[in-house]
Amino acid sequence: MIKPRPLSIRARLILLVLAAVLPAAGLVAWLIVAESRDARAIAFIGLAALLLAQALAYRIASAIVKPVRDLARTAAKVAHGDLAARARVAGPAELESVARQFNRMLDVRVDAEEALRASEERLHGIVHMAAEAIVVVDEQFHVALFNPAAEAIFGCSAAEAIGAGVERFIPQRLRDASRKYMAGFSAGAGACAGGASVMRMGDHAEIFGLRADGEEFPLELSLARITHSGKPLYSAVLNDVSARRRDAARLDVLANYDALTSLPNRALFRQRLQRSLVHAQRYNEGLAVVLIDLDRFKNVNDTLGHEVGDRVLRAVAERLKGCLREVDTLACLGGDEFAVLIEQVSDTRVVGSVARKLLQTVADLLVLDEQEYHITASIGISTYPADGSDGATLLKNADIAMHRAKERGMNNAQFYAAAMNAHSMARLSLETGLRHALERGEFLLHYQPKVDIVSGRIAGMEALVRWERPGSGMVPPADFIPLAEETGLIVPIGAWVLKAACERNRAWQRQGMPPLRVAVNLSARQFVQANLVSDVARVLDASGLAPAWLELEITESMVMGDPERAIQTLRQLKSMGVALAIDDFGTGYSSLGYLKRFPIDNIKIDRSFIKDIPRNNDDATITRTIIDLTHNLRLKVVAEGVETAAQLNFLREHGCDEMQGYYFSRPLAEDAFSTLVQAQENKAAITA
Ligand code: C2E
Ligand code: MG
Ligand code: MG
Repeated sequence: MIKPRPLSIRARLILLVLAAVLPAAGLVAWLIVAESRDARAIAFIGLAALLLAQALAYRIASAIVKPVRDLARTAAKVAHGDLAARARVAGPAELESVARQFNRMLDVRVDAEEALRASEERLHGIVHMAAEAIVVVDEQFHVALFNPAAEAIFGCSAAEAIGAGVERFIPQRLRDASRKYMAGFSAGAGACAGGASVMRMGDHAEIFGLRADGEEFPLELSLARITHSGKPLYSAVLNDVSARRRDAARLDVLANYDALTSLPNRALFRQRLQRSLVHAQRYNEGLAVVLIDLDRFKNVNDTLGHEVGDRVLRAVAERLKGCLREVDTLACLGGDEFAVLIEQVSDTRVVGSVARKLLQTVADLLVLDEQEYHITASIGISTYPADGSDGATLLKNADIAMHRAKERGMNNAQFYAAAMNAHSMARLSLETGLRHALERGEFLLHYQPKVDIVSGRIAGMEALVRWERPGSGMVPPADFIPLAEETGLIVPIGAWVLKAACERNRAWQRQGMPPLRVAVNLSARQFVQANLVSDVARVLDASGLAPAWLELEITESMVMGDPERAIQTLRQLKSMGVALAIDDFGTGYSSLGYLKRFPIDNIKIDRSFIKDIPRNNDDATITRTIIDLTHNLRLKVVAEGVETAAQLNFLREHGCDEMQGYYFSRPLAEDAFSTLVQAQENKAAITA
């Protein structure tokens, strides 16, 4: 049933007027038609009273209606958004009360709106200033809010983003997974229905975002479902974690990789070895640890400088890598030491052949900037399960095997054998003994005469160090000099030799022995000491020995590494008046061009060439060539290791100047040496 519309105030007033006009019209009509005076008077009075009553009624009605209309007008203004409008409160008491309530309601509403606006402003400020990107999407996954941080990380303005589908910010390859993930949320399940690329981590997920320029980047996402005006919205707080990931990756590289070669370092190698051991144990497989140490690499660093040393190491690392399978781990354990982890070893012969390949690749001639380098390596191998069941033991045993390879002349590979352990213990004890030998005064010098081949007279002597080790007797230099070189102990030992030789020579001179030049061997390590020249000067000064009575013996490899620097050092020594000799000539690789520029006095032909002359034609030719070459350079030539008359005759025949060897005399203790010199003097005096 249709409910009749209530009449408006205006309609009611019109009805009121009509209701008044009809009786008035009747009274007017009666006034006109009344025939008697009395009737007319009554009609007139009635009309007047009616009009008066109507005027009164109208006034009363409009006094009631006006505040109501006022209220209605104010309400209309409020409805149109004018919250400042207020109803007038003058009028009948009831209406005044209504107007007052109405105004109070308006005040409350204004306060609430103000509070809401302030709260929204605050919220907007927070969203606007937030360091995290905040993106709100609606139920259809269209962007509804995109704060400045989101603009920054996605490289897209809010104006462009708002209204766009959220997939615009997700890499193509992840869109399916992301859709499922979001569907999971929109279904209220809150669980990840996505693929492997989107991980749900509590309320967090790690995903990849897509920047406007097409670049993918890692994001940390925290998604929440909110309701706004009864509609669900999804709010995502996003963090660009590329920098954090980069830092973590950098830290990982620093902690686990060698800075020079970029190979896994010792820590990572140990981890992988551990993991492989667990696997090998479970599946009953074998594995091998191959330790590779470059031979005499300290010499390369000491003589050529660390920059060249580093380049050589990088080149060697590349070569080693080239010999191995992808699955083998090659690591740089530090310095010049590398390690290879070979898994699934069923036959150790395979490991042997890998080791041979590694040796060969290191030994292949290395050319850097037209400079040739002859690098070799010593390799030690330990295998699981034969040589140990844990990483530390396998590494230790491979190390023992590697040292064994060094002792066997380097450039070879050795499998670990339990017997080696005893050997390495002996080596350790030698090293400990050597460390104390100097302070305990266990070193002494022997002197071997150098003889003029033409006159047969002693022309000089070489000081050779000996170690009188308690309980072990006289230890020859070959047994401890390499270890002293390796440990750096050769520097203080060499300093002691220089001082002792100069003091002894000066003492002999004071005692009246005919003056002789004493030759002292320098090691590679000593030669590169920055204070070598000043040390030599100080020792000469302190001992009182004239520089002309000292000769320093250096080897080819010591000077050929960094020839320019060597020339400088040699010139300084030479200008002091000290004589210089190249020892063991022919065993290293000299450049003849440089040889001419070195300010040297003597060349000592290595014993290995003298040993088989005159029988061996090659050696005879080499010896003859060295003698000629040395004379062409106007240098004196000395033959080392002369043991027979035939050797001496050959050398004499070809004009060699001096010789040193058992044929004339072995190295002698101080007293024996001075007795020998004295005897020769006496003989010369008798002959004269
Ligand atoms: P080197 O400087 O070439 O010394 C010559 C070596 O040959 C000496 O061995 C000497 O005893 C040996 N020798 C001499 N004549 C003959 C011979 O006719 N036949 C044989 N078979 N050998 C002969 P030594 O004393 O054992 O020294 C070996 C090496 O140890 C030296 O070779 C030198 O390189 C090093 N050395 C010795 N003393 C010192 C030292 O004070 N400082 C440094 N840095 N090295 C030293
Ligand atoms: Mg020598
Ligand atoms: Mg020599």
